[in-house]
Formats: sequence, structure tokens, C-alpha cells
Amino acid sequence: MLSVTFLGTSAARPTVERNVSAMALVREGETLLFECGEGTQRQMMRYGVSFALSEIFFTHFHADHFLGVIGLIRTLGLQTRAEPMVLYGPKGAKKVLGQAIQLGVERVPFGVDIREVKPGDVIGSDNGGNGAPRTAYQIQVFATDHGGGSVGYALREHERRGRFDVDKARAAGIPEGPLWGKLTKGETVQLPDGRTVGPEGIVGGNRPGRLVVFTGDTRPCAAVVDAAQGADLLIHEATFGEEEKERAKETGHSTAREAAQVALAAKARRLVLSHVSARYSVSADELVKEAREVFKETVVAKDGMTVEVPYTD
Ligand SMILES: [Zn+2]
Ligand SMILES: [Zn+2]
Repeated sequence: MLSVTFLGTSAARPTVERNVSAMALVREGETLLFECGEGTQRQMMRYGVSFALSEIFFTHFHADHFLGVIGLIRTLGLQTRAEPMVLYGPKGAKKVLGQAIQLGVERVPFGVDIREVKPGDVIGSDNGGNGAPRTAYQIQVFATDHGGGSVGYALREHERRGRFDVDKARAAGIPEGPLWGKLTKGETVQLPDGRTVGPEGIVGGNRPGRLVVFTGDTRPCAAVVDAAQGADLLIHEATFGEEEKERAKETGHSTAREAAQVALAAKARRLVLSHVSARYSVSADELVKEAREVFKETVVAKDGMTVEVPYTD
């Protein structure tokens, strides 16, 4: 099970319909939060996102992406949380987030570890915020183009074992039981009749894991195209429509069409647009239309929307 719930989809400021940036990714019962704009904790309650999370990932430190961490950390403290929390962000994270979590509280009753990351970093097995090893996926940090060392995050699952072919196993005379399990793990086994059998031909090749890519604010750029190669889901900002493409360039943002070009170049399976300008708050149909001319599998996020990311095989 892997799904993404959009908690805030408005650029720069909240509107009646949309809150500022935040997104919860839930994978096998684990919740990861990406961005934490003002009011995110209330959106989490509204849309049923667990407060039992251990890691928050920030792409940059414009106010619409992190102010909510002040209240969220305070609420977690009131809930007598004891588990540590890890906050990830680009250079400047220690200063900005360090100030934010101390604002308005005597002390935070649980450990908060702030880690600065840079493009190329892999947040792997030793970095699970709750101390549990991250065994099935890693998070790759990539550069984005929004000024000030902004980054994006790609959650990449490890390959899965190949499928065990029951019919072939039976045909080969391998008795059902522990030997099947060993073969599935890629081991060679000895049968009761003395024959030795390997997994070749009985267990298929490794199957790919899923890839979910979250850009945060950015101009369309090659680093995102690289990070999103073959992504099952690309979540790209699309602050503006084509008629404001100059403004997008000036402010370090993307148009819906530009986001679609990135998805196309990356051969992504699906594109979700988010971080839309207030003028698209009620209807973002225009953005979807412009993007779909380039990349058909596009939708625009709205607050409370959940997108499931299935395996492709
Ligand atoms: Zn923003
Ligand atoms: Zn920004």
C-alpha cells in the first residue's frame, strides 16, 4: 500500500478552498510528511492523516512551506509524545527549523533532530527517524531550481523478489514447503531425492519497486527530469498557466505546461500538479487542459485528495 494525500495545494498563501503546501505519503502503515505549511496539523485531522509520524521533509524555507511545523511540534508535545522526530531540509534547515520549533514553547518534550541534506544525498537504511531500519526503500535528494539551494525528494523502493511459479515448481518435482521459501529467496536447494535445484526458471527476475517524486517549488529543470525517470508518480508544482509564463520564470516557478514537459521527458507514468496560484483556487481546469496537451496522464491536486500508487506488475 502506497498513497499520497494532499493536505495543502495553494501557492504562497491559503485560500478558502486550499491550504498552503503539505503532503502526507503513507507506505505500509508508515506516514511521511513533505512540507508543513501553516495550518497543516488541522488539515491532517480533517483528512485523517496520522500524527504518529517521525520524519518531515522540507524542500526550502519560504514561509508557505514550513510555518506549520511550529504548531505541529507543540501539539505533538501536548500529546506526551516520547519518540524522536527528524526534520530534513536543505542548507539553512538547522537555523530556520531550530528557531521555529523553539517558538512559543518552554521546551519540546521529545528529541527533534534537524538534518541538512544536499542534492545527491540518499536517506537510507540507517536514517529511519523512529530508529527502525528503512529496509524497503530509500529517499533520494535532488536539486531543484528555485533559488537558495532548494531540493526535491524521490522515494524509491528497492526491487522486489521475482514471482514464484508454482506450476513450474510442481513440474520440477519440488515438494511444497520450506524448499519453496528458500527458492523464493534465491537460494539453491537439495531435494529429498538428492537433486540440486536453483531458483532459475522457477523464480522470475526481480520486479521494480515504485518511485514517487516530489519537487516542491521549482522551475522546470534537468535535475528533476533525471530524478523522475520512469516515476510511477511525479508531483510537480504548477503555480501558473501559460498566460503567466513570464511571471513563472521571474519568480522561480513552473507553468502547468512546463511541468507536463518534465513528466514527458522523464517518461513518468502519472503527473499530479500542485502549488497552484490563488486564481486557480476554485477551478484549475485551465491548468489541467494546458498540461494534458503535452502529457495526458495529468490531474491537479486539491486539498484532501488521495492518490494510490499501485505496483505495475
Ligand atoms: Zn511556495
Ligand atoms: Zn518557494
